[in-house]
Formats: sequence, C-alpha cells, structure tokens
Amino acid sequence: MTRHFEYLRPETIDAAIGMKVEYGPQAKFWAGGTDMMLLWQRRAVDFDYCIDLTYIPSLRYIEMEGSTLRIGAMATLDDLDLKSNLNSALTALGETARLMNTKQTRTIATVGGNLCHASPSADLTPPLIAMGTQVKLQGPEGERVIPLDDFHIGVNETALADNEIVKEFIVPHVSEKLAASYNRIARTVVDIALVSSAVCLRIDDTRTIQDAGVVLGAVGPTAIRAPDAENVLIGVSLEELGNGTVQKAGEQASLAARAISDIRASQEFRTDMTSVLTERSIRRCAEILGDY
Ligand SMILES: Cc1cc2nc3c(=O)[nH]c(=O)nc-3n(C[C@H](O)[C@H](O)[C@H](O)COP(=O)(O)OP(=O)(O)OC[C@H]3O[C@@H](n4cnc5c(N)ncnc54)[C@H](O)[C@@H]3O)c2cc1C
Repeated sequence: MTRHFEYLRPETIDAAIGMKVEYGPQAKFWAGGTDMMLLWQRRAVDFDYCIDLTYIPSLRYIEMEGSTLRIGAMATLDDLDLKSNLNSALTALGETARLMNTKQTRTIATVGGNLCHASPSADLTPPLIAMGTQVKLQGPEGERVIPLDDFHIGVNETALADNEIVKEFIVPHVSEKLAASYNRIARTVVDIALVSSAVCLRIDDTRTIQDAGVVLGAVGPTAIRAPDAENVLIGVSLEELGNGTVQKAGEQASLAARAISDIRASQEFRTDMTSVLTERSIRRCAEILGDY
C-alpha cells in the first residue's frame, strides 16, 4: 500500500518546534535522512508529517567560542571532516567522521542525526562523551543543557522530551593540551562498528594527565564510560605511560564492557577487542600530546 506524508520545511528552530507541537507524535524531524529513510522503508517508523530541518541555517555551524567548541545539530559529517585542521578535538572528530559512511553520504548525514538515532554503535557518541560534551536541547518551554552522558537512555532511545529538538553540542576546554582518538572494528567502510573505543586526555603544564575520558561503543545498549580505566590514567605523566599503565587501562576498559553475542560478533571478541582498541586510542593520544 502506498504511504504518504506531508513535507514541511521550516526556516527557523521556533517554526520547527511549532510544527512539532501542532502535529504531535505523527510528525518527525528529518535531518539528513540517512537513518530515517531506511527506517521508513522498513516500516520501522511511520509519520504523517516530515519536518525537514535542512533549511534552518541557524542549526548548521562548527565554531569556537574561547576554548569551547560548538557544533550545530545540522553540521554534517563532511563539515567535521573539512574543519578537522582547526584544533585537536576537531581532528579526532574529523578522523571519526572519515571512518563513517561514504563521502557522498557524509555530505548529508548530520551530527545531530547520528546522536539522536541513538544506535549503540553510532561512531560519534564515544569520542564526544569522552571529551565531556554537553548537548543543548530546545522545546516549547525553552532551552536546557544536559551532559551527553545522560542523553542516551537505551537502544534508539534518548532523553529528548516531546517536541524537543537538539540544537547543539558543546565541547569544553579545547586546547593544545587535549588529545582524543577513536578506534573501531567494522567489516567494511560502510558497516557500523562491531566494537569501538574512544579516549580523550587533557594534560597540565607538567605533562601530567589531569583529565581522562574512556568511552566504549557497541558493548552495551548505550555507550559505556569506563571510570576505572580513566582513574588508571589520571595523575600519570606522559613519560610514565609506558610502564604498564596503558595495558592496565585497557584491561579496566574490557571489564566495563557489557558485550553481547549477535550475528555480527561474539561477546568474547567484543570484550577482547575493547582492551585492544582502548590501548590503541591511549597510545595515539600520547603520540599527539608528545608533539606539544
Ligand atoms: C550506507 C550507510 C552507512 C552508514 N555508516 C555509518 C557509520 O559508519 N557509522 C555510523 O555511526 N552511522 C552510519 N550510518 C548511519 C547514519 O548515516 C548516521 O547515523 C547519520 O549521522 C544520521 O544522520 P542523519 O542526518 O541522516 O539523521 P536522520 O536519519 O535524518 O535522523 C535520525 C534520527 O534523529 C532524529 N533527529 C535528527 N536531527 C534531530 C534534531 N536536531 N533534533 C531532534 N531529533 C533529530 C530524527 O528524527 C531521527 O529519529 C550509515 C547509514 C547508511 C545509510
């Protein structure tokens, strides 16, 4: 049976929210549509009103405000790639974006869409959480900001309230003393991650790690932070990292994993690879910070 929906094209955030309020649960936001199109074709999602966010210029930007990086929800994966020379946070996010999709799809797939679809294997989730990112939401009652850590509440489930839209992602304390790295295992370039790990390290003037983020992907219903792995790293100088610290952090990361076996990979493989990928990410961060 042919299915129809009405296509709506707001030009402001307020207009988009107004449409959502007016049409209720039968209206869905549409960003790049790369997840939505598949869901719609598979009949996993249905709607009478499609609110296309593409023509809202105030949602598409990547900019620095002091040491804070702001990424608008409609910035595309390709935008991340193109800005990857700006600073170390964007280098890591640009490298992550280049692992995802194909170049053509990256020009329409958005950062907001990747995070809002809330897949356990979404590639941008681990590095953004590891960097301490916050997410700004806007609804009819106004704005609120929550840690990205709290945004995903289950498989394909977010903390977005009815009629709320994701406005931007806020990455704090971006400087030359930050390094981040994301590593994943996937069968092909257009495949989603079987398992992944992101690490973000911030060092002080004595080249000691003052803040560490270790976040695992595809080993639980949502991305998993590994605080015991982070604690292994905090307080260690870059020079001391070689003395078994990297391996210890990798082990702690795999203990935090809650992997399952499915058609794509076994629980054992995912758990073992968690430590390998975490160690790889830490070493890459140390390499980047070693250059400063
Ligand atoms: C061939 C192919 C390869 C892929 N490869 C990868 C990969 O390697 N890694 C990976 O992580 N993903 C991959 N994906 C999935 C997808 O491309 C990404 O998740 C993409 O970033 C989704 O963004 P989008 O703009 O297309 O979102 P859409 O499909 O438009 O939207 C996704 C969801 O987010 C909601 N939404 C979007 N923006 C907002 C907003 N601002 N506020 C509130 N809700 C919003 C929508 O309502 C919808 O529920 C792939 C998809 C395809 C088709």
